[in-house]
Amino acid sequence: MTASATTASATDRVYNFSAGPAVLPESVLREVQEEMMCLPGAGASLLEISHRDKLFIEILQDAESTLRSLLGISDDYSVMFMQGGATLQFSAVAANLLRGTGKKAEYLLTGSWGKKAIEEAKKEGNVGVLFDAAKTNYDRLPTASDYSCPDDAAYLYYCSNETIQGVQFASEPECPDSVPLVSDASSDFLCRPLPIDRYGLVYACAQKNAGPAGVTVVVMRKDLIDIADENIPGYLHYKNHHENESEWNTPPTFAIYVLGKVARWLRDDIGGLANMEDINRQKSESLYKIIDESNGFYRGHAQTDCRSLMNVTFNLPSEELTTKFVAEAGSHRLAALKGHRSVGGIRASIYNAMPREGVEALGNFMTDFASRNG
Ligand SMILES: *Cc1c(COP(=O)(O)O)cnc(C)c1O
Repeated sequence: MTASATTASATDRVYNFSAGPAVLPESVLREVQEEMMCLPGAGASLLEISHRDKLFIEILQDAESTLRSLLGISDDYSVMFMQGGATLQFSAVAANLLRGTGKKAEYLLTGSWGKKAIEEAKKEGNVGVLFDAAKTNYDRLPTASDYSCPDDAAYLYYCSNETIQGVQFASEPECPDSVPLVSDASSDFLCRPLPIDRYGLVYACAQKNAGPAGVTVVVMRKDLIDIADENIPGYLHYKNHHENESEWNTPPTFAIYVLGKVARWLRDDIGGLANMEDINRQKSESLYKIIDESNGFYRGHAQTDCRSLMNVTFNLPSEELTTKFVAEAGSHRLAALKGHRSVGGIRASIYNAMPREGVEALGNFMTDFASRNG
C-alpha cells in the first residue's frame, strides 16, 4: 500500500487501551501536528533543531517547571530527563545508591517489573527481598506488618503500580526515615498527587502515563546525588545529568517536548493532579463495579484493596471467551485489551488521557458481553 492510501484521519482513532506506549491527549497530538512543519520562532520543526538551541532549552525548562508545579517538587530535588527507559533505571538506581556502599538494598517484590529491577540490582551489590508476592501470582501488596526494613538499608525500593498485574499502592509503603525510599512510578506517574518529600528517588518512563517513549523522568533528592562511586558508567551517573541540566549528552528532545505538553494539559485543562485523581477514580471504579456485579463472569486479578487506577486486570471463564471478547471489542473500536501472558485475560489500561467516554464504551461492552455469554 502506498502512504496516501493508508493516510488515516482523527476520526479513525479507536479507544486505545494499550499498556504502553499508550493513549495521549488529543489536544496534545493536535498541537504537535500543528507545530510539526515549523515550531514557532524556530524556522524548523522541533525534531530538527539543536538540543543547545535556546528554543529547545526553554521547552526543557518549561517541562521541568510544569512538573515541579504539578507535583510540588522543592529545590531539594533534582529533576532529570534521561533515556534508556525505566529499564536503565533498574541499573542506575543500584549503581548510584548501592554499588560500593557495603550496604544492602531492600526490595518489595509485587510484580513483573520489580522482579526485573531486582535482577539488575543484584549485579551491583547485596540485595534483600523483604516481601515477595510470587506465591499468589502478584495479586496483593504488603502492609506494614508484612515486613520490616532495616534502618541501615541502602534504600527501600518498590513499584507503585505494577502495570502487568494491575496492583497499585494506595500510599507510600512504611520506610524508616534513615532509608531513601525509591519508586518505579512508570505506570502511575501524574495519575494523582505524590508526596515527593517522602522519597529519595522516583522515576518514570513517559510512555505509559506521561508522554511518548524515549524519555524517563528522574526526581532525586539532591543530597543522594554525590553518593555514587565516580567509576560507574558515565551515562548511569546521576551527577552528570543533574550538573548538566539533562544536557550531558543529547537528550530525547521530541519526547521531552511532548511530555511538557502533557504536563501543561494536566495543569491547564484538567486543573491539576487532585482533579486527575478524581477522574481516574471514577473511571476505574466504574469498571471494577461491573466486574464485581458480574456474578463471577469477570474475575479481577488484583485483590480489591490494591486495585490499580491505571491498569484494570481481569479474567473471563475461559480462554475461548477471552479471545472472543478481544475480537468483539476490537469491532467496537475498543483496542489493545489483551492481558499480558503472565496474568492472562484482559487488561484495560485507562491512563490519564483515556477519555471517560472510552471507559464508558468499554463498560457498556463488558455488561453486554457478559449478558450474552454468561
Ligand atoms: C513499562 C514499565 C517498565 C519498563 O519500561 P521501559 O521504558 O520499557 O524500560 C518498568 N516499570 C514499569 C512499572 C513499567 O510499567
